[in-house]
Amino acid sequence: MIYLDNAATTRCRQEVIDVMNNYQTHDFFNASSVYAPAVSVRKDIDEARNSILDILCASDHKLVFVSSATEANNLIFSSINLRPGDKILISVGEHPSVFECAKSYAQKGVCVEYVNLLENGELDTCDLKRKMTKEVKLVSCMLVSNETGAISDIKKICEIVKSVNNKTLVACDGVQAFGKIDVCIDDLGVDFFVVSAHKIHGPKGVGALIYNKDIKIVPLMIGGGQENGLRSGTENVAGILGLKIASEIASENLKNNYVKVSAVKQNIIDELYNNNVDFMINGNGSPYILSLSFDGVRGEVLLHSLEADNIYISTGSACSSKHQDNRILEAMGRSKKEVMGSVRLSFNPYDEYDAKYIANKISTKVKMLKG
Ligand code: PLP
Repeated sequence: MIYLDNAATTRCRQEVIDVMNNYQTHDFFNASSVYAPAVSVRKDIDEARNSILDILCASDHKLVFVSSATEANNLIFSSINLRPGDKILISVGEHPSVFECAKSYAQKGVCVEYVNLLENGELDTCDLKRKMTKEVKLVSCMLVSNETGAISDIKKICEIVKSVNNKTLVACDGVQAFGKIDVCIDDLGVDFFVVSAHKIHGPKGVGALIYNKDIKIVPLMIGGGQENGLRSGTENVAGILGLKIASEIASENLKNNYVKVSAVKQNIIDELYNNNVDFMINGNGSPYILSLSFDGVRGEVLLHSLEADNIYISTGSACSSKHQDNRILEAMGRSKKEVMGSVRLSFNPYDEYDAKYIANKISTKVKMLKG
């Protein structure tokens, strides 16, 4: 199997599985209980919290563990206390967990405006300047696009927003950035940052919302008051410890991993050029993601044709694969044909990829499908 869909999810690392198994079988106590072994579990959760805040260089922030990045993005919206007539700005390129959430508030009378993307997939900061007014309560822009890998200039975005209104909150979905590119939240200046474990070789079902310590989080889950009252429900301790170790491994290897996947991505591009297939690269930023449009081929057909050879790719994000259109590629100015012919390859630093083999397979299939 050649797995090229790591932006959808990654394989859990053995170190992560070992830590999680150890908790499930030996240290399985409820962190809310008061005897010593349970208190030790509580300490482990807080250590995980501090470790991730340290990795993200987030000295003015706190962290709440949640079930997913989707939940974290929803929690941001519930904490803003939006009322009919309030205004928010959302990048057109946001993940559905932000985009659909914003749409649901629009149906309740909130004024949602969308900020355009540039042709390379980054947020268009000129459009942001045009749309940013002092009434805006929230601006949301992801750091790395899950569709194209495009990296937006979040620091500049924060500066633009805060220069108009220092109280406007900036949310950043960091799911495809965390553990892959250098992130320092203090430097970016964002109020919210979102991460998910299963994108960095951690387990599914756990994520975190990092938020400025002056912000009052309004919980989505009410009950036993776990996570300092912000997320009731017995903590997913195995998941939290899995996220911690996955974050630490990713952070320790960040530079080497970056170099390794950069070479993989470049080699595949070079080999595709050598094979004389017509293609276009959509967006260019993160070395972990390569979005391509092939002329005269349907992405979905190419995907299944490669699947027959045990090569797994995607036609865009797994979350949007049910939709025929792709609002992100369209916002970047891609034609309908280019959108239809688009596929996404996404890498991890631990598999050994044979770039020539992958590019040859893709080129052969594309030529065959074009007839
Ligand atoms: N945000 C981005 C940018 C993503 O790529 C994803 C996953 O596809 C999510 C949010 C949602 O993550 P989760 O699966 O943890 O809900």
